[in-house]
Amino acid sequence: MLAVHFPGFRVTGSDFADDRIRIDICVDSNSARCPDCGGTSTSVHSSYTRRLRDLPILGKPVEITASVRRFRCMVSDCHRVTFVESLDWLARRYAQRTERVTAVLRALVMLLSSILGATLAFSLGIRTSSSTLLRTVDRSAPTVKAPRFVGVDDFAIRRGRTYGTLLCDLETGRPVDIIPGRAAGPVAEWLSRHSGIQVVVRDRATAYAQAASYAVPEAIQVADRFHLVRNVADAFREVVDGKRWVAPTIPAEPVAETCTKKPEHERPTKRELARLASAQRLQHRYEDVPDRFRHGESIRAISRATGLSRATVRKYLRGTQPQQRAPRPPVPGKITPFADYMQLRWKAGCHNAAQLFREIGALGYDGSPSQVRAFVQPWRALAGTSVVRRASWKDVRWAILCPPERRNPIQQELAAESLDINPELREAHDLFQRFRAILRERRPENLPRWIEQASVSSFPSFRRLAKTFTADLKAVMAGVEHEWSTGKVEGQITRVKLLKRIGYGRSSFDLLRARILAAPCGRGTCPASVLARALRVEA
Ligand SMILES: [Zn+2]
Repeated sequence: MLAVHFPGFRVTGSDFADDRIRIDICVDSNSARCPDCGGTSTSVHSSYTRRLRDLPILGKPVEITASVRRFRCMVSDCHRVTFVESLDWLARRYAQRTERVTAVLRALVMLLSSILGATLAFSLGIRTSSSTLLRTVDRSAPTVKAPRFVGVDDFAIRRGRTYGTLLCDLETGRPVDIIPGRAAGPVAEWLSRHSGIQVVVRDRATAYAQAASYAVPEAIQVADRFHLVRNVADAFREVVDGKRWVAPTIPAEPVAETCTKKPEHERPTKRELARLASAQRLQHRYEDVPDRFRHGESIRAISRATGLSRATVRKYLRGTQPQQRAPRPPVPGKITPFADYMQLRWKAGCHNAAQLFREIGALGYDGSPSQVRAFVQPWRALAGTSVVRRASWKDVRWAILCPPERRNPIQQELAAESLDINPELREAHDLFQRFRAILRERRPENLPRWIEQASVSSFPSFRRLAKTFTADLKAVMAGVEHEWSTGKVEGQITRVKLLKRIGYGRSSFDLLRARILAAPCGRGTCPASVLARALRVEA
């Protein structure tokens, strides 16, 4: 028998079996209140037993048997004859498990797929099935307070086939609803159902623009900055890829000049670095010992702290320098026997590594050509011989498409040279960078001039873009001016993708919506903390 007092009910008995625990309870009161008239009654009509599954104790399933009484309503003008005393604090009407269990199951199905949820519930001592878990989800459409600043973006439910629209409150960063499809109609319907919307941030798709103009004409529409940059970047890429441009020439050799790595002969090898580190460690310990001694530590304590033997500690205190290990002699490689021959040929004017490889191959060398190239590399650098060749267009393209502030020195040079020899490419590049500057400095007043320049440029992609920007001018200007962006929506879309995959593609739209809207980031309200609280896990 549990000798604990619970407010509101009494434990009348208990039974500890091997496979389950049963606890008998009854309501600790002589009277009950009629749900219709509110009158108190003490006249018991009858009673029955209600069985409820509760959270497990010591890993064993718990069954609560509640003795429930039916009372007569004593109020003469109440139409109700009898009523049952309330167990609302424990379980809902007709429920077969307590509200605590339901909360755990609901949290599980919000976090995991129903099958995984059922598996985890089983190991927590709650027997349930995946379909029971799915039934605990409240799929009714949520009633949300209309946000003042809404972010709208689409996401793929099945890529290329079905899409959904995610609406976020940009002030809280939380999703407020999802709508099937990405057409203007349903979005407009949602927007007009929620009053007080002041700003709609969206991508450049016309559907959301139409929806916002139709449903909330007074709201400011903002074209998202990221989408704006991407539009212009796409136009520029079309120019770059639309024609064969002249690639700049670069010194062909030494290779070191085309990459940021230091030449082979200057760069310390892994072994050298390890040797250096070990020598530094040794020196540090050598200096540490007298330091500790001066601060009053005993030789024994120093030995314990540094891991050196007491004899070594004494030696260091006498001032004997630690011995440095001699570097290992170089291991003769496959190429070593041919070094003299190659040197002769190099001096004779053969600076072609491939030719040298063929020649020493005939003499019996069975190593790789890259070893030969690496071997002659220091000679090449010394001689300063360099042959001019064209830069690879792939490298040049990367350099040009890379934002100038993120180019490395080699890319800077490549980009500068290729723009010098291709004036048309420079025009497009400047157009792109000018747009980025307008966005960065938040100067919407410079936008019309930019659009005009783009519309008279010789690039069809920019001319097309100028047209669409003109058609959506207000929103594009607002995008340049305001700091609102769909960044928070994109963040939520990442979460949506995760939730979608958790459902293994079986998740229906309303289940997906329930999962998405299940308080994603509020402290104490997300499914994970609900679960932890229900299970009394401190987290
Ligand atoms: Zn009554």
